[in-house]
Formats: sequence, C-alpha cells, structure tokens
Amino acid sequence: MIHKLNETHDVRLRSWIESANAPGHDFPIQNLPYGVFRRRGSIEDFRIGVAIGAQILDLRKAYAAGAFDDADVLTLSAIEACRGASLNALMELGTEAWQALRLALSRLLRDSSPAQVTLRQSLLPQDEAEFTVPMQIGDYTDFYTSIHHATAVGKLFRPDAPLLPNYKWVPIGYHGRVSSIGTSGMAVHRPMGQIKSPERDAPVLAPSARLDFELEIGIVIGSGNALGEPVAIDAAESKIFGLCLLNDWSARDIQSWEYQPLGPFLSKNFATTISPWIVTLDALTPYRTPMTRPEGDPAPLAYLDAPEVRTCGGLDIDLEVLIETARMREEGASPERISRSNFRHSYWSVAQLVTHHTASGCNLRAGDLFGSGTQSGPQPSEAGSLLELSLGGRKPLVLSNGEHRTFVDDGDAIVLRAWAEKAGFARVGFGEARATLMAAAGSAVPAATQAETEGKR
Ligand code: MN
Repeated sequence: MIHKLNETHDVRLRSWIESANAPGHDFPIQNLPYGVFRRRGSIEDFRIGVAIGAQILDLRKAYAAGAFDDADVLTLSAIEACRGASLNALMELGTEAWQALRLALSRLLRDSSPAQVTLRQSLLPQDEAEFTVPMQIGDYTDFYTSIHHATAVGKLFRPDAPLLPNYKWVPIGYHGRVSSIGTSGMAVHRPMGQIKSPERDAPVLAPSARLDFELEIGIVIGSGNALGEPVAIDAAESKIFGLCLLNDWSARDIQSWEYQPLGPFLSKNFATTISPWIVTLDALTPYRTPMTRPEGDPAPLAYLDAPEVRTCGGLDIDLEVLIETARMREEGASPERISRSNFRHSYWSVAQLVTHHTASGCNLRAGDLFGSGTQSGPQPSEAGSLLELSLGGRKPLVLSNGEHRTFVDDGDAIVLRAWAEKAGFARVGFGEARATLMAAAGSAVPAATQAETEGKR
C-alpha cells in the first residue's frame, strides 16, 4: 500500500495550537487537510492553507517567514507549489511530495516545535476566513457506489427488479458539470426544468418541487494519467490526493422525466456543494477497512481486483446529514440530524473507481473530481437522500419542532458532516458542506403553474 502509517498518525502528537488538541475537534495535528481561503470580506488573494484546530496555517506566509528554510528538496518543491491560489500545482507533484509536505507540517505544528515563534504570524482563525473551491476542476464524474442506495431507489421505480444487471460488474457513473460546483456556504437556487406529471400528456417548465440532496464523498484526483494509458488497480490510489464532502443536489421531478436514455442533465447541473477542506488519503490511512462482497456476488473482473482492495480498499468514514430550516434559524435552534451513514458500505473502492474510469484510456488530470454516489447504508435511517428517507415523497419526515419535509423547502440549509475515528488513533473530521436553498431565480412561470407543481409535493 502506498499509504503507510508513519509518525504523522501518532495519536500522542499534540500541537502548540491549543484548539487542535481539544477532544472531538475535526482538525487535530493528525489531520492537516488543505483548503483555499482569504480573510472574509477582503479583496486579498485567495491562498492555500492547512486547517489546524480552529486556525488556518497560511502556507504562503509560512514559507515567506522562513519556516521551510531547512527543508529537503522534495519538501521545498511541495511548499513552493503552494504559493498559488489552487492546489493543482501541489497535486501534480505526486504522492512522495504530498507525504514530504505532510511530514514537514506535522513537525512544524507539534508542541515541541521552535517554529511556533515565527508561525504565529501565519495563522488566521477559521471563523474570520472565507473559502473557495480549492482546486481547478477540469472534469467531474459522479458514481453510484452504494448498492443500498441503488436498490432503494430502484425499488421505487422497478419493485420487481430494483438492481440493474450491470451493477455488480461496473462502477456506474456519468460525466457531470463543473461550472456549478461551489463550496460550503453557497446559496442554491431551486432549478427550473421540464416536469411532467403522470396525469398530464405534456410537460411544463416549472421550478422543481422535489428538490433533494445526495450525501456523497468527493474524491479529488491528484496526479493524472496520459491519454490511452489506463491506471492499473495497484497504482490507482497513488492518483488520489484526498477526499471531501459532496452534496449532489438533485431535482427528482426533472430527473424522472429526462434521465432516459442518456442520464441526468438539468436535474443535476444547477449546483453541487463541496466542503472547503480536502482531507488527504494519507491522513485516512488508519481508517482503512476490508472490502467484502456478500456470498454469491460475482468477484470483480481481474482489472478491478487486487489483494489490497480486498484487505484495505474501504474507508471507515462516518457521515451525517443535518437540516436547518428557516424556522430553526429564527428560533435559534441547532440543525437536526436526519441521516447517519458510513462510507464503508460502498460497493466499490476509490481505487476501483480510478481504474475503471481510465480503463478505456480516458485521461484524468490533477484537480478532477469524482462523486462517490449517494452513500446510503443498509438501514432505512441511513439513507443518503430525501427520496429514500421519504419513500419517494409518500412519507414525510417529521422534525422535532413539528415541521414536515418530503423534499427540501426554500430557506432550508442542508449540512453534510463526516469524520473518521478508531481506537488507538486520533479522530479526524471533514468540517462541513453547507448550502441553503433559495427560491427559483428568474422564473418566468405564472404563479398558477408553480402552485400546481407545489400541490403535488
Ligand atoms: Mn449523485
């Protein structure tokens, strides 16, 4: 395995930044995720930072302050690649450079480090920062790796044969849209699109009335591959820089009318929200799990199979979805959890996604993004979308303040969170991916049409 345990994973490490040592904090010194930030409300350049406790270490400032003056050549190449406003240059350097920089940062941030004197000037509290999408994303592909999600959704449409025959052989995916990917805190406008109700002969253009979230893990590609040169399964993880949270906003009514024969289009192209921090695959080494398939399922074809996929291809990452309605905000109530799941339920490993994606010769490039697909677990309460939680809109979710939801309402914020923990290791968190749904923008639709659509909710 490329990603091995080393001193950066030691649970005993503490940082001179006190907030990083607080139990349960997302960003202890064992995590060190990367993001792109600037002081909130400023016109400063966006720049690369590392989350440490409640602070951000500004890598450009830290480099200028001389914190890396004694670094070796590999570490220097990595920190010098962090002077821009996106992670792509660092990503292109590959795993050895990523690991060298992680080790250097871990040592600089430990409580015994003499660098704390110079580095204090390179910190910004996270609550004084604003974030942007941390890499230039060339292409975005969304997969469908939860067999529980595929089965539950399939049941709603095909009760007799919920799972299509290709599912256990092919990591199913489609090529998505990059321009509408935003980071946590974004506002999402309810999309317009063609909606056709079963009682009518013709569709209407209307705002979606069945607006949903999808709880997903984002997989960020670091180094790419040349066109025509597939990535072998045992090299696939060396291509992955890290993981983030991803909400694949989905308009179910638009989707059900348009998705055949070529897949989702307007139902998915209006917004995708990712968390601002990319947790490196290196940071996640302690939380690997075996990938096991139920008795009787076919083994993956040889190009997707490897001993390491079986023994440690999975990732034990806890996932949750919270809702914060406008009323909760007005009343000062905390967001309420509506689902809890785990990435270990994924039917396909992250390495298998890379290898399958490139099996045709397709080239991946630094900064490319994969969505894992909705990560529903085996239990109904572990469903990663409202489509599943509300049984296709037939059974509303009742929130503790008495509000009901079948799909997302205008004013609702949807918050995704994730963390990994294991006895003998630190708990590392992903922060959150939050977005608030706004009314449809630029709607030229008469109110009556919208009311009619609303009536079917
Ligand atoms: Mn999706």
